[in-house]
Amino acid sequence: MSSLLLSGGRVIDPSQDLDSSADLLLRDGKVAAIGKEASSKAPSDAKRVDVKGLVVCPGLIDLHVHLREPGQSAKETIATGTAAAARGGFTSVVCMPNTSPVIENAGTVALIREKAVREGVVNVFITGAITRDIAGEELAPIGSLKQAGVVAITDDGHCVQNNELMRRALEYAKMFDLPVMDHCQDYALVSDGVMHEGYWSTILGLRGWPSAGEDMIVARNIVLAELTGAHVHCQHLSSAGSVELLRAARKRGLPISGEACPHHFTLTDAAVSGSESFWQQDGRGVFGYQKGFSGTHPAWPNYDTNLKMNPPLRSARDRQAIIEGLVDGTIEVICSDHAPHSDYEKDVEFDYAPFGITGLETELSLSLMQLYHAGRLPLPALIAKFTTAPARILRLAKGSLRVGSDADVTVLDPDRPWVFRRDESASKSKNSPFDGWSLKGKAMATIVAGNIVWHDTCLSGKV
Ligand SMILES: [Zn+2]
Repeated sequence: MSSLLLSGGRVIDPSQDLDSSADLLLRDGKVAAIGKEASSKAPSDAKRVDVKGLVVCPGLIDLHVHLREPGQSAKETIATGTAAAARGGFTSVVCMPNTSPVIENAGTVALIREKAVREGVVNVFITGAITRDIAGEELAPIGSLKQAGVVAITDDGHCVQNNELMRRALEYAKMFDLPVMDHCQDYALVSDGVMHEGYWSTILGLRGWPSAGEDMIVARNIVLAELTGAHVHCQHLSSAGSVELLRAARKRGLPISGEACPHHFTLTDAAVSGSESFWQQDGRGVFGYQKGFSGTHPAWPNYDTNLKMNPPLRSARDRQAIIEGLVDGTIEVICSDHAPHSDYEKDVEFDYAPFGITGLETELSLSLMQLYHAGRLPLPALIAKFTTAPARILRLAKGSLRVGSDADVTVLDPDRPWVFRRDESASKSKNSPFDGWSLKGKAMATIVAGNIVWHDTCLSGKV
C-alpha cells in the first residue's frame, strides 16, 4: 500500500485543537502519524510532498450538493460533480435526493453508492427523501432508507408543508437516529416569488419572495424539534429572521442547527439589478472589492439568471445577519448548495429560469474572503465549519486528522490570489455568478484515502 508524507505545513485540525507546523504521514488510507514522528515513521518508498507555507487540514465536507444523478446527467454527473468538489478542496460531499427518480428507496441508494464508488473522485454520502416523490404527502420508507445507508433525510428543493406530517417524519427519524435536513419555505407566503421581496424586486418588477416565507418554517422546525426531540438541520439560511430564531432556540438547548452558503453572505438582491448597482452599494461589503478598490469589478447584466437561486439573495441587512450568525456560532456549517443547470435552461427570462447556481469551486475562497480575510473568524474556526461541524451533525466518521482516521486531507493556500473562470470549471454546468471574480485563497491539493485526487498546477513539480 502507498504512503504519503506531507512535510512542513501548518496543520490545522479543529477536532484536536491543533494549529502548528507539523508533518503528516498517511499510510494505507489512514492517518499514520502527525508531528515529530511522522517523518521517521515514513517508509523509504513514501511519496514526499513539501507543503511549507500551506495549510494542511482535515478533508473538507460539503453537506449540501446536487449531483443530479440519476436522471439529470445533462446538468451534472457523479463524475463531474465530484471532480468539481475535488477542485474546490472537498473530500466528501453529501448529495441531495431530488433526482429523477427521487432517492426514496433502498434500490436508488444502492445505485448511487455503486456509481459513486466507480466514478466518484471524492466520498459521496447520500440523503433520502422525507416524503414519497418529495411530494409532501406521505412519508418515504425512512427505516429502510436508513438501513440502505442514508446519512439524513430531506425533501430539499421542496419543503413539507403539512406540520403534522413533518412531526411524524421527525418522530420516525428520531427512532432511526437520523438527522432531518429541511429546506425552509412556506409555499403560501412565497407563492411564485422569484427574488427577495423588497426594494429591488419592486424596481425590477419581479415577483417577491419574502423573508417571512423562510422564517415561518424555521420557527415551525424549532417548535417541532422541541416537541419531538429530533434533530432538525435548517438548510441554506438566508434571512436575518432565521438567524435570530435559530440563535434563541440554540440558546435554549434545542436540537436544531443551520447552514449558510457563500452566495448569501457575499451577494445581495441588488446584484439582480446588474453589477453596477451592486458594486455602487452592497458590493462595498465584499472583501477585496471594498471602498477604495481601484481595479476592474466583475460585470454582469441586470436580470442575470445566474443570480436566481432558492432561497434568493437577500438584503444587505440579511447578509450581515448571516455573517454574524456564522461568527457567533449560531450557524455551524458552510455549504455550497451546488445546483448545476445547463445553459439552455438558464438562458431564458428571469421568471422562467430554474433556481440554483454552482458553488463547489468558489465556496472555500469566498468563505476565506468574507470571514477570514475580513478579520471576522480565525482560520481554525472557519475550517471547523467545513470539517468537524458537518461531520458531527451528520455523524460522519470524517473531519479529523487524528491518528487512525481516514486519510482525507485538504491542502490549501489561504492567501493565493486567483480568478475563477466558468469555462475552466470541472462541473458540467457553468451557472456561477462568480465568473471573472478575483478571489483570495484556494485549495492546492485534495487527498482522499491517502491518494492525491486533484492538485493545483503550482504543486505540479512537487507531487
Ligand atoms: Zn434547497
